[in-house]
Amino acid sequence: MSWEENVRKVTPYVPGEQPKRKDIIKLNTNECPYPPSKKVREALLAANADELRLYPDPDALELRESLAQAYGVKKEQIFVGVGSDDVLAMAFQTFFNSSKPILFPDITYSFYEVWADLFRIPFQIQPLDENFHIRAQDYRKENGGIIFPNPNAPTGVCEPLSLIEEIVRENPDSVVIVDEAYIDFGGMSALPLTEKYDNLLIVQTFSKSRALAGMRIGFAIGNEKLISYLSDVKFSFNSYTMNRLVLTAGKACVEDQDYFKLCTGKIKVTRERVKESLRKLGFSFPDSYGNFLFVTHKEIPAKELFEALKAEGIYVRYFNRPRTDNYLRITVGTDEEMDTLLEFLKNYRNR
Ligand SMILES: *Cc1c(COP(=O)(O)O)cnc(C)c1O
Repeated sequence: MSWEENVRKVTPYVPGEQPKRKDIIKLNTNECPYPPSKKVREALLAANADELRLYPDPDALELRESLAQAYGVKKEQIFVGVGSDDVLAMAFQTFFNSSKPILFPDITYSFYEVWADLFRIPFQIQPLDENFHIRAQDYRKENGGIIFPNPNAPTGVCEPLSLIEEIVRENPDSVVIVDEAYIDFGGMSALPLTEKYDNLLIVQTFSKSRALAGMRIGFAIGNEKLISYLSDVKFSFNSYTMNRLVLTAGKACVEDQDYFKLCTGKIKVTRERVKESLRKLGFSFPDSYGNFLFVTHKEIPAKELFEALKAEGIYVRYFNRPRTDNYLRITVGTDEEMDTLLEFLKNYRNR
């Protein structure tokens, strides 16, 4: 008998690389290529460092009020956390307590399986169809909860609200979590469905479309009862997860809706242009609604291309998993970055 027998052993999630080198083109973790709103910078510069001796507002009231206003809901319907990873982890603990398995797709955000494992939640993986779409009938079985991203990661595939509604409607005894990390790049948010269904929780993040990955802010929207259960778990864990500077930056960020629309608009335009060019180079990919493309090439193996790009200082993401091991996930960067990438790919193909 050793103390090691009593250790909670888990296989941790592996985030995308954050290289120390600065001279690279970083297209591997779906960050925004543009800086955050100037209002964020101004708010941080105006912050009073002396106030840091005081605890922050445990209710994050001002940030939640800004979000409530931006999304047209009540502040009691909003929960905020340290990135959506924190929000999702809390939601797993709060809502997935059945002895029945939770359901999620085979190709999806790989953190779901890690949390299920960490919290000892049984799970059953539902394969996507051959076009990487969710089949509603796979979610028509006994379960202890359902979670999937929409648009999906890392495929970029977006499901229509009719499919989401079907899943939510057919599972009134489970909480359905829709992870909308990429919804601001063109998909339809399931937010309006939260008015009709009390078992639907929407989770979003400031990390991608709001250019604040370094701040760590995520949020959930649902009916008041769901949010209140989520808050109870959060307050049983750590009351002060959102620090003063985060709350200040987050509020300034949400209030600059114009800049948010400008950035997401630019990224969408670049994405569509890059789709065109990649097709011409012989790449194929599911039609992406995210700020990334999930590409495969009929002649060039993905792993080989991943290494070649890295040697060139262009970082993309490679997932060595069944069904996706011949794909690369490429974040949509600035036009200039994408041109450098496209030029490299063109020369690589013709080498
Ligand atoms: C990026 C991402 C998240 C986590 O984002 P945070 O930075 O923790 O807010 C959650 N879900 C999906 C699908 C993501 O791609």
